[in-house]
Amino acid sequence: MFLAGATAAAAEAPRISGLQLGLNAGLTRLVIEASGPLAADLQTSAEPALLTLTFPPGVTAQPLPGTAGSGLIERAGPLSEAGGRVTLPLILAAPALVERAFQLPAQGRHAPHRLVIDFRPADSAAFRMAFAAPVHLPLEQSADVVPPLPASRDNRRLIVLDPGHGGQDPGAISASGRYEKDVTLAVARAVAVRLEQTGRYRVLLTRNGDRFVRLPQRVALARQKEADLFLSIHADSLASDGLTRGASVYTRAEHATDLEAEALALRENKADLLADSAPAEELDDVVSILLDLASRDTPRLSGRFAGLLTASLGQATPLRRNAVRAANFLVLSAPDVPSVLLELGYLSNLKDEALLFSDQGRRELAEAVVAAIDRFFGVEAQPAR
Ligand SMILES: [Zn+2]
Repeated sequence: MFLAGATAAAAEAPRISGLQLGLNAGLTRLVIEASGPLAADLQTSAEPALLTLTFPPGVTAQPLPGTAGSGLIERAGPLSEAGGRVTLPLILAAPALVERAFQLPAQGRHAPHRLVIDFRPADSAAFRMAFAAPVHLPLEQSADVVPPLPASRDNRRLIVLDPGHGGQDPGAISASGRYEKDVTLAVARAVAVRLEQTGRYRVLLTRNGDRFVRLPQRVALARQKEADLFLSIHADSLASDGLTRGASVYTRAEHATDLEAEALALRENKADLLADSAPAEELDDVVSILLDLASRDTPRLSGRFAGLLTASLGQATPLRRNAVRAANFLVLSAPDVPSVLLELGYLSNLKDEALLFSDQGRRELAEAVVAAIDRFFGVEAQPAR
């Protein structure tokens, strides 16, 4: 226990109860939870890769382990006590400046106060200048007075691929009894391999096996990891229609563009009814701290990617008419990650079924998806030969 012999005055001082690190809109966010409003001094020591937060006298801390890194911070913690004051070391992956630092009051009786610090990349000279003297946090004003600096170099985009369904939820079932969940995983894996081969992307799958994953968990993963793009992969089926075939692409909208899209969203959203447990609200709490700056740009970006994806898929497979549509898909609900749902085709159509269960067909679809992702991020793929 830190400061076991705390004085009466210290009893009223904030007690630190939690540390969280994450990425938020391109910034590295450190959140320190405490029982009351928290201030701190931030300074660098002789070692250039180390920043130390020093809390005012009287502040105490629960024994907390260090937190594994994210973004510009390789490691936060462990908290320790030096000279009667609690300190928190931050080991940096690269020089960083404080973009902003603010307090968030407790959101409920038992909820903690939070000191939120956003870091952005800097060069070494700016870093040395900024921390020549301790920086008092929270900042009274935004650190925007420091001129913007070039972004750091290796920032591979993070693509979260979401193979639809899994485990007890087979998804759509083809005429010959094959499962959507197998198609979605196979195509997601093919896309992941190709994306990684480009060297331009990091890839995460919401499931990499035959496993049931709730829709909110899929969304939460993309948000927690601050994905640059979320692509949910599905294949549809129409019970009384063996003729309809082709791919289609969806974004999220509260009001569906058409009845068919609305019905599809209802089918896909049903996956969550198969969960054994009540909605996982704790997930919302985990990510909510990372999110108070949801991008207003997200719907525009989702729409842009949907258009590129459709154009690219048209090279590999037939498309439905009006191939880009929108409906209220739960899995597309991240407000801060551009999110698109792809229906690869119809398992109720024999040609689509053959395409989706062939290596060749999957390869072509995966290549079309990767080409669209490259265009979305402004990298034209090399010509095929
Ligand atoms: Zn599906």
